[in-house]
Amino acid sequence: MKFIFLGSGTAFTIGANNYHSNVLLINDDNKKLLIDCGSDARHALYELKLSYKDITDVYISHLHADHMGGLEWLGFNRKFDEQCDKPKLYIAESLIHDLWSKSLSGSMESLEGELCNLNTYFDPISIKENETFHWDGIEFRVVQTAHVMNGFTLAPCHGLFFKANKTQVYYTADTQFCPQLLMRFYNEADIIFHDCETATQQSGVHAHFNDLISLPDSIKNKMWLYHYNPGHLPDAKEHGFLGFVKKGQVFTF
Ligand SMILES: [Zn+2]
Ligand SMILES: [Zn+2]
Repeated sequence: MKFIFLGSGTAFTIGANNYHSNVLLINDDNKKLLIDCGSDARHALYELKLSYKDITDVYISHLHADHMGGLEWLGFNRKFDEQCDKPKLYIAESLIHDLWSKSLSGSMESLEGELCNLNTYFDPISIKENETFHWDGIEFRVVQTAHVMNGFTLAPCHGLFFKANKTQVYYTADTQFCPQLLMRFYNEADIIFHDCETATQQSGVHAHFNDLISLPDSIKNKMWLYHYNPGHLPDAKEHGFLGFVKKGQVFTF
């Protein structure tokens, strides 16, 4: 099973040196699950000689455009290609209404002569709180993170914890630095892919490299860093991490 980073950058990636942090999970039968579909996805897939035709299954972690801004491209292209059927859309129940009503409906609800909804383009699979979803025999636990406070409540964002062959993988999605919440998953995982901001000015909504270095060595030495800013990167290996994930980097489990 391959875990390919289409990109490992933030929402603020510049040019084609890196793309948004979206991942393609490819099983041994070449079946694919796209983990997040940001607005860079079409370019990133094109570099791998792939297109919307290859994306039959997609998981969305949250509603920032670097994670879901490519859904319009995916939905329209597959709808108007006779050879394609609707992609399965795995998404937390707490996100599904807003995904349509606040993000996609502005352009996608109107087709000539037809009033559309999310089901026109996708086959949504809603994941309830504290439940799992299955894809190709793999059980995915959906782990909520503290990413952005929306007034008095947390805007939903969900990473993934799953077992790929014999490897327990924890993919955080976007998250603040909150080891007290996530330590259980850090401990349980064999390999961790962690959101890591590297900007000189901290946004407050992502774990920053300067925070992550305070984690125990036993955690850092199984942790890869992604979702980093353009520009200079500190030496991750020197601080005990496995490194910064590069665009196109492939992990095999
Ligand atoms: Zn985000
Ligand atoms: Zn992001």
